[in-house]
Amino acid sequence: MNPIILRNATVLDPRAGELIPDRSVVIRNGRIEEVADAKAHAGDATVIDLRGRVLMPGLIDSHVHATQASSDFAELRSWSPYYAAARVSRLLREMLLRGFTTVRDMGGADHGVARAVEEGLFEGPRVLYGGPIIAPTGGHGLTEICDGETELRRAIRRQMALGAHHVKLTVSGGVISSMRIDALGFSEAEIRAAVDEAALAHRYVAGHAYTAEAVNRALRWGVRTIEHGNLIDGSSIELFRQHEAFYVPTLASFFALAREDAPHALSAESLAKLHHVRDAGIQALALADRAGIRIGYGTDLHGPLHAHQSMEFQLRSQVQKPADILRSATVTGAEIAGLVGSVGEIVPGAHADLLVVDGNPLEDIGLLADPERSLLLIMKGGGFVKNTL
Ligand SMILES: [Zn+2]
Repeated sequence: MNPIILRNATVLDPRAGELIPDRSVVIRNGRIEEVADAKAHAGDATVIDLRGRVLMPGLIDSHVHATQASSDFAELRSWSPYYAAARVSRLLREMLLRGFTTVRDMGGADHGVARAVEEGLFEGPRVLYGGPIIAPTGGHGLTEICDGETELRRAIRRQMALGAHHVKLTVSGGVISSMRIDALGFSEAEIRAAVDEAALAHRYVAGHAYTAEAVNRALRWGVRTIEHGNLIDGSSIELFRQHEAFYVPTLASFFALAREDAPHALSAESLAKLHHVRDAGIQALALADRAGIRIGYGTDLHGPLHAHQSMEFQLRSQVQKPADILRSATVTGAEIAGLVGSVGEIVPGAHADLLVVDGNPLEDIGLLADPERSLLLIMKGGGFVKNTL
């Protein structure tokens, strides 16, 4: 493949939250080879003049469910695996067209989905998968049920043998389940066993949790990322800091659900839970942002609600600055995924996952909430996904 040079680019550095004008970015074999200030030359290169437009790294969504193409779990289970795969391929392509070039799947996707993307059979973001969500009997979600340390270790060993990047445990109730939202998922011994087992494979545990009590138990016992966490308080913030853990709010899911699906799909009890966690979630994000803990960009959408994946940018802008939201969706996402230097920033050696934005997202984060209009070029691994320049 001939090298590509993106000339006259204003490069967005999400680490510093700054724009660097007049750059030339050289792409070879799917990677960024060089970010130069002068006019880079290569005899056989394809040169694209960006005319000073903003060039930013591809986005990272740290909480998706790429295989949940329907929000009706019974329907999902009735699908033929071939039909389900076709639906997954559509979902992945749509994520890519929203500018997401890497996603962390938090329940459902497996090695088959990741491989189909790697081999170019599905056009989609690179997928970090964990396999099924692990929950205790009576627990929350579309899950593999495990009780006791032995069952947990066995399930995690099985997932690790299939190449899982992480393990997801439900350590509290949820919105859709019948389990109380303040109910606690696993015992201390079980959580510690899961964390130990994941560590043996040099992987980590992500915990689905809402209340401060559930979040704090998980953090104390070594869970590395907290998913949702809508009801955290100051005591949780301290533990995030002490344990260098990550917070992955998923506001879009609550807002999209409340607006579209919930009124007819959920029971009155689940609906009340939903409104409560939705409103508390914004306050929790504000608290975490002020405290400076590391925050990932998550969305947690199911079925047709996937269309709202970019709404998270708008929702977070109520309490966060654009630069901080951009950092969540790029470099912090890379830290969570263990892919620093490979994704989430425009540096030599990184995958050429790049977006050209019609405007400056550091001033107007709403641009990323409207990707169809504002993303002029989308590149993943040096290949063009969209190019309207
Ligand atoms: Zn989820």
